Amino acid sequence: MSDRFCSVLIGSELSIVSSPMFDRGEAANSLTVTIAPGVTTGELSKFFTDNNVCFKTDAILDKATYGGLIAAGCHGVGKDQLAVSDYVKGMSIVGANGEEAVYTFPSDDQDNDNALKCNMGLFGVMTSITMEVKPMVIVKVENDFSYTVEDLFYNPTALKKLYEDNWSLEIFWFPFNNLSWPQLIALFYFRCPEQVSWEPKHDKLWIRKINPVDVPDEPTPNQVEYDIKEVQDAITTGFGRSSAPYLNKNEFLIPSFLKAGFEMVQTFNATTRFEPMNKAIHYQSFIDVMPVLDMEFAFNADPDTFSRQVEAMQAAIDITKKYY
Ligand SMILES: Cc1cc2nc3c(=O)[nH]c(=O)nc-3n(C[C@H](O)[C@H](O)[C@H](O)COP(=O)(O)OP(=O)(O)OC[C@H]3O[C@@H](n4cnc5c(N)ncnc54)[C@H](O)[C@@H]3O)c2cc1C
Repeated sequence: MSDRFCSVLIGSELSIVSSPMFDRGEAANSLTVTIAPGVTTGELSKFFTDNNVCFKTDAILDKATYGGLIAAGCHGVGKDQLAVSDYVKGMSIVGANGEEAVYTFPSDDQDNDNALKCNMGLFGVMTSITMEVKPMVIVKVENDFSYTVEDLFYNPTALKKLYEDNWSLEIFWFPFNNLSWPQLIALFYFRCPEQVSWEPKHDKLWIRKINPVDVPDEPTPNQVEYDIKEVQDAITTGFGRSSAPYLNKNEFLIPSFLKAGFEMVQTFNATTRFEPMNKAIHYQSFIDVMPVLDMEFAFNADPDTFSRQVEAMQAAIDITKKYY
């Protein structure tokens, strides 16, 4: 691959065209890709696989558009990485006067650059975005199911260590997973939570640890394995979608549903994998199939804030316990 990379991706038909859209100034020696804002994260990921390049920061979602991600300053992975919009090297925007303005970054006005990159749609309609890309990075993805809620959410030192030891970390809690199936059946049948005691501290966590590696110890998954994973994702999200109305009507089913979901996650994510960066980040497909109420909070990962983070997690645990 040459050290210059220029392509324009249009809508869902991703095609490489030869003419550069921007005078890239200082970015001339870096690899860039120019996309229409309607290109989705999943579409660009396919392009990255075909062309062996990646963003080192991105969104898990595979159906969001880059226009939406960048305008809102969303997403990012990796503790040495910024938000996706921070890697924008140029953009064109059609303003209220109907004229298209072309910008390249950095300019000599950093505040204006930052406002344009995270523009919230306020400057007009973006018509193209140029982003910095890297040669493909291979990462090691480890799925760790050994920690309990108590081990991490009541222990800021352990949480901090896990954060420090990994480049990117995702921690998931599926409440009720330490209840046994006989307990869950009793809970559903008798509908008396007071008869089945649940201690959230004993629930297991799912932790995804992502770390870039120089030379993978084993081959990365092939297309057949990714196709199988797509089918698994479709089954799990499809199951979630079709069960949602029953869960709404029968709240006593929710602990069993979460326990089954956690068991499925353990089965499907049993191994450590070496994967291209884009596959490791966009690891879950079809989340658009299963609409959920999604509340999100950002925490500062400054080393001194882990005691506050465990407090926040404990508040979430207390609310779940109250619901139970
Ligand atoms: C399940 C889920 C999980 C999420 N997880 C995270 C997370 O972990 N971290 C995080 O930071 N965010 C997260 N988000 C938030 C998500 O990234 C944002 O809502 C993002 O804006 C979604 O992109 P979209 O393509 O749906 O945007 P849209 O809703 O289409 O657009 C969002 C806004 O961007 C602007 N915009 C879009 N296109 C253009 C354009 N061409 N020109 C000008 N302005 C434009 C508009 O102001 C528009 O209102 C999550 C969202 C969901 C649904």
